[in-house]
Amino acid sequence: MTQTAAPQVGHLINGELTGSTPRAVHDPGRLDDVVAHVAVGDEQDVNRAVRAAHAAYPGWRSTPSAERAKLLFAAADALAASTEELAPLLVREHGGVGWEAQTDFGLGTGVIQHTVSLLEDFLSPLTIDDEQCSIQVTKAPRGVAAAIVPWNMPVVLTMLKLAPALATGNTVVLKPSPFASAALTLALQRMAAVLPPGVLNVVHGDGDVGAALCRHPLVRKVGFTGGTATAQKVLEATSPTIKNITLELGGNDPAVLLDDVDVDSTLDGLVKGVYTRSGQICFAVKRIYVPRSLYTRFADAFCARVDELVVGHGLDPQSSFGPLNNEAQFKKVQDILDRTRNSTAQLVQLGRKLDASTWENGYYVLPHVVKDVEHSAPVSCEEQFGPVVPLIAYDDEEQALAWANDSEYGLCSSVWSADPERGLAFAERVEAGSTFINSHSFDSLDPRMPFGGIKQSGLGREFGVPGLSAYVEDHAVRRLK
Ligand code: NDP
Repeated sequence: MTQTAAPQVGHLINGELTGSTPRAVHDPGRLDDVVAHVAVGDEQDVNRAVRAAHAAYPGWRSTPSAERAKLLFAAADALAASTEELAPLLVREHGGVGWEAQTDFGLGTGVIQHTVSLLEDFLSPLTIDDEQCSIQVTKAPRGVAAAIVPWNMPVVLTMLKLAPALATGNTVVLKPSPFASAALTLALQRMAAVLPPGVLNVVHGDGDVGAALCRHPLVRKVGFTGGTATAQKVLEATSPTIKNITLELGGNDPAVLLDDVDVDSTLDGLVKGVYTRSGQICFAVKRIYVPRSLYTRFADAFCARVDELVVGHGLDPQSSFGPLNNEAQFKKVQDILDRTRNSTAQLVQLGRKLDASTWENGYYVLPHVVKDVEHSAPVSCEEQFGPVVPLIAYDDEEQALAWANDSEYGLCSSVWSADPERGLAFAERVEAGSTFINSHSFDSLDPRMPFGGIKQSGLGREFGVPGLSAYVEDHAVRRLK
C-alpha cells in the first residue's frame, strides 16, 4: 500500500498559502497514521478571506464571460491532472476506496466543464421592445459566495458550488470539512493558480468557521451541503443579513421493487446503491420495499450478494468498501445497529474482513441487512448513513407508495420494474427531488438533471441551469423611448 509524507495544508487567501496551528488528520482505516497537517482557522481568517474575495469581485465580475469560461476550463484541466496524485491521499483521509475517490475527481471535473459549456446561452439577456420602452434583463452575480461542504464526496460537492459561482462572476470562499480537506485543497491550489488572486479562497476549521462565514455581512450567497441539523444553524446565521442560500442535505432514499421485477437483475444495482462509500452518501439507498410475494426470494438473493463484499483499507484493491469516516459517524452507526439488534427485526451481519489483524485500528463496519423489519422501525425511518439496509415487505403498491413518501426527507428514490411505463407511472407519484428507474447510484446522475431535495432534504437545486441560476440575480433595466 502507498505510504507518502503527510503534506502541510494551509488556508488559501488572496492566492497565498497561510495559516498556523496545523492539526494532524488521521487515516480512518489506520488510526495511528497521520495523513496531513491542516491549518485551523478562526473568525479573523474568515474575515481576511471574505475581504480578499470582495476585493477581487469587481475585476472578476467585469472579466468577459468568454474569458472566465476559458480560465475555468483551464482550472478543470488542472483538477483532472491532479487526480492520479491526489486520489490516494483522498482515500487515506476520507476512507473511501480508490475508484470512489477517482469518481469524485472525475465527477468534479465534469461538473465544471458541463456548467461552463452552458454559460453563453445562460447569460444571454432577455429583451423586450415596444413603442413606449425597451427592457433588458441580465443575470448579475451576487457577490462573495460561501461554499461549505462535508467529507463524503468533497471534490464534486465543492465543484457543484464553485463552478456556477465562478462562471457567473461571483468570487468564492470555501470551508471544507476537516475530515477531508487536504486532497481537495491541494487540487484547489492548482486550480486557483490559473485564476486571478482572491477569486477562489479556502479557510479551514470547524463549525465556528462555517458559522462565521454564514454571518459575514459581505457574503451574499451560501451554498451548503451537509446534515439537516447544521442546515438549521446556517438558516439562523444567514437570516439577519438575508442571504440567498442553497441547501443540499440528508436523505432516507427508498427503493421500491414492483411485483413484475426480475429479482436477479436488481441485485448489482441495489448492492451498489446501498454500500458504495460504506453507505455514507446522501442519496444512498437507505430502505428497500419488496412485494411480500417476492420477499424471501429477494432477501436470500440479496444477502448472498452482500456476503461477497470485502471490507478493508481503501488503498487495497480487494476492498469493496472502506471504513466509516470518523468516530462520531462510527458511533452513530453502532447505535442504530445496537437498537436494531435489540428489536424484533432480524439483523444479519455479512461480508468478510480483508485483514482481521488491523480491523480494530479503523472505523470498520461489515455490511448488514435487516430482515423482517417494519416500515416504522428506527432503521427504516432514520438516515443510517452506514452499510446497513432494511428490507421491508409490502402488500400492495399503494402501501409501498405511502411508505416511500412517509419520510421527513425527500432527496432521491428509485423504482425497479420490468415495465418502464409502469415504473414511470409509479415514479411520478414519489415525493422526492429525483426518482431513478432501475438504478440508484452514481451512474444514475446526469448533470442535465437538477439535483436536490424536497422537505428536510434541502432548498434549491444544483447541476445545470438551475445550479447556475442559484448564483445570479435578475437585473432589469427599463428605458423610455
Ligand atoms: P455536517 O452538517 O456536520 O457538516 C457539513 C459542513 O458544515 C462541514 O464542513 C461542517 O464543518 C460545517 N459546519 C458545522 N457547523 C456549522 C455551522 N454552524 N455553520 C456552518 N457550517 C457548519 O455534515 P457531515 O459532514 O457530518 O455530513 C453528513 C451529513 O451531510 C449527512 O446528514 C448527509 O446526508 C449530508 N450530506 C448531504 C449531501 C447532499 O448532497 N444532499 C451530500 C453529502 C452529505 P465541521 O465538520 O468542521 O463541523
